[in-house]
Amino acid sequence: MTNEERLQLVQSIELKQRNIFLSISAVLALVIVLGISYYGSRMIQQRRAEAASARAIAAQQETVDAPAAEVLTLSSQGQSIISGASASARQLIQAAEARKAAQEGAAQQEAKEKEAAVIPEGFVLREMTADDVHKGELQLINKTYEYHFLEDDLLSLIYDQEGGNYYLSSFQIQMTKNTADALHQLLGAFYAETGYENILVLNGYRSKEEADALYAEDSENRGDEYADSHTMTAGHSEHHSGMATDLGYFSTGSFIEQGDEELSWFYEHACDYGFILRYPEDKQAITQIALEDWHFRYVGVPAATDIYRQQLCLEEWIDLIHQHTVQNPYEITVGETTYVLYYAPGNPNPETGKIEVPVPEGKNVVISGDNIEGFIVTVQP
Ligand SMILES: [Zn+2]
Repeated sequence: MTNEERLQLVQSIELKQRNIFLSISAVLALVIVLGISYYGSRMIQQRRAEAASARAIAAQQETVDAPAAEVLTLSSQGQSIISGASASARQLIQAAEARKAAQEGAAQQEAKEKEAAVIPEGFVLREMTADDVHKGELQLINKTYEYHFLEDDLLSLIYDQEGGNYYLSSFQIQMTKNTADALHQLLGAFYAETGYENILVLNGYRSKEEADALYAEDSENRGDEYADSHTMTAGHSEHHSGMATDLGYFSTGSFIEQGDEELSWFYEHACDYGFILRYPEDKQAITQIALEDWHFRYVGVPAATDIYRQQLCLEEWIDLIHQHTVQNPYEITVGETTYVLYYAPGNPNPETGKIEVPVPEGKNVVISGDNIEGFIVTVQP
């Protein structure tokens, strides 16, 4: 090989080496460029994603924060809304409780009626009318239960009684016959026991018109409050029934008073003749009438005796009798005599459509309406 040939060979090797080097460099440069551009695009994507999520969070906060701020600024109103909501929740609960109580009450009533519908042995059914609920001596007449004026109200003049040791404010005073008879006997016994002669019978039966006039007069003279707590509006006065009387002193014309020692026998024994002091002082919350020392109501001997002994008012006593049906009667013993009483509902038998009251066969019974919804049966011995 000549020197020239050698030189050519070396040059060609060098050229090849340079070409290889250049090729490798180009490949490396390409790899680097590709790597950088890939990394760059990844970075850009990531930034974009971050920006998007930031925007999303910002948007979310915007929607959340706006009402939150409103709630904060309206917090007092919010509280009242909340308390309003709990009040209406309470109302709902109360309504539910009331419904439950009413259902239980209805169920109880139904059970009571079913029980009463079973007739014991030796009893027969006596047919009554709806009007009969508003007749009889055990009627409750008060601010709630109005007196029903009936055409066959039988009244008699107390003046017709013979030889009384008491005075009448008028010869026209009328009462039911039983009331007039019993009052005459009571005042006669009082005189026989004590020799007291100063009783004045002020009144008895009062018509609807008289009641209206009296209420107006009391209201005008002593104010509405007095009239409301002392005088019954027309229809609600016991005087309409002819079974009530007001008593006074003949000497002064004023109402009698319980504190008067000369009258202690009278107050203790009125019940023996079937009379009750209708508006006692401690029963005002129930009767809704303030103490009236002078107003007596005829209810018959067994009821009056029991009411006096137990210190009840008529409202309480009627409630008590309502608890006793024919299966579970109530007994009142007066002296040697035991009366049996029970309540009978006044609704018609669903099968016959008739109002029927069970009574013991062959016994003397008195059936009185309660003026509410049914009857009180008193079986005489
Ligand atoms: Zn009266």
